[in-house]
Amino acid sequence: MMLPILKYGNPILQKVCEPVTVFDKTLETLAKNMAETMYAAPGVGLAAPQVGVLKRLIVVDATAGEKQGELITLVNPEIINKEGEQYEEEGCLSIPNFTGKVRRPYRVIVTGKDLQGREKIVEGEALLSRVLSHEIDHLNGVLFIDHLGPIKRDIIKRKIRKKVRAGEW
Ligand SMILES: [Zn+2]
Repeated sequence: MMLPILKYGNPILQKVCEPVTVFDKTLETLAKNMAETMYAAPGVGLAAPQVGVLKRLIVVDATAGEKQGELITLVNPEIINKEGEQYEEEGCLSIPNFTGKVRRPYRVIVTGKDLQGREKIVEGEALLSRVLSHEIDHLNGVLFIDHLGPIKRDIIKRKIRKKVRAGEW
């Protein structure tokens, strides 16, 4: 089932999410629906708060579904190691049609759990590192525009306010 994606301006997107403690069918269904929503968008990652659920759950596929078996579902993800740096253009399904250059680690190691509560470890480089970092940021109420310089950020915010007024957001 496709879920509606919340847009910038919704206060849920700026809240810190709670850790998942119950690994049940509801969690499984949420993860499945999030993956479906991400692929349909299409996007390379989606965090639970983007669909209005304040839980620490992300889905990521750096190939956007181009390759089979690339879907990563992570519960309570945590970056335990960062290496290097990349500075690339980034967007967000909650801030459609806007991008900005964001500094991210070139490589990350992320721990977390799968949907059954088993320990999981994921290593990501380049785009995958960026997407993991971006989605984990969402769980802490941080958006990519929070990483931009104040001028660029204000330009985007102003344009969004204009769209809100025009009923286009
Ligand atoms: Zn995002």
